[in-house]
Amino acid sequence: AKSMRLDKLLGHCGWGTRRQLKELCKGGHVFVNGQCCRDSAAKVDPEGDQISVDGTPVVYEAFYYLMMNKPAGVLSATEDRCSRTVLDLLPQQYQGAGLFPVGRLDKDTTGLLLLTNDGVWAHCITAPKKHIDKIYIAEVDGSIPDDIDDVFQGGIVLADGLQCLPARARKIEEQTVEVTVQEGKFHQVKRMCAAVGLSVRALCRHTIGGLRLDETLRPGEFRPLKEEEREFPF
Ligand code: URA
Repeated sequence: AKSMRLDKLLGHCGWGTRRQLKELCKGGHVFVNGQCCRDSAAKVDPEGDQISVDGTPVVYEAFYYLMMNKPAGVLSATEDRCSRTVLDLLPQQYQGAGLFPVGRLDKDTTGLLLLTNDGVWAHCITAPKKHIDKIYIAEVDGSIPDDIDDVFQGGIVLADGLQCLPARARKIEEQTVEVTVQEGKFHQVKRMCAAVGLSVRALCRHTIGGLRLDETLRPGEFRPLKEEEREFPF
């Protein structure tokens, strides 16, 4: 079905803004099924029509699913007036498709961040009802209590009275603890650690559900999820 405007499709695939695309089409750079199309408002079929720009085929995918190794110092937001965001780390191809981070990591938190433009999929991962484990490594100052796992499993109460769901903690080294939570409240892991006298110096998420951060991704790098990763029963 010819159901999508040409400029919408090209924008989705990262070929530019609506204005730029109008010019691109006017200039005779855009071809639909081998025919030059100068009208950026023309209706096309994103699945069936062969579209190219100056001979480069336009590859249309409705939904994107990416994993990123989030570096410290960038916001997990789609735009911000002052700071760089995780969206700024993605190439042009992904700039017009409405990608957003699935859940949030603090600016100084690193590690596994999922990005998508599929709201239904994102909801399956972030909905509190789904009880998906998120696993973090925290580098802490202070001495890790021997009973930290029991305390976290009991569901701790934060300084402001907030009651946490049961969570888990495992001391890995003197100053390193692995924390598993199912919630994602504001500064959750840092505040839970603070509640047992620990101050978090660095925080890295390595797992969401059954999905582990690809160790070959350096900070700031990303890759598309494989099909089986996308369909993992989160
Ligand atoms: N908990 C935190 O305190 N910060 C994060 O970024 C994620 C979980």
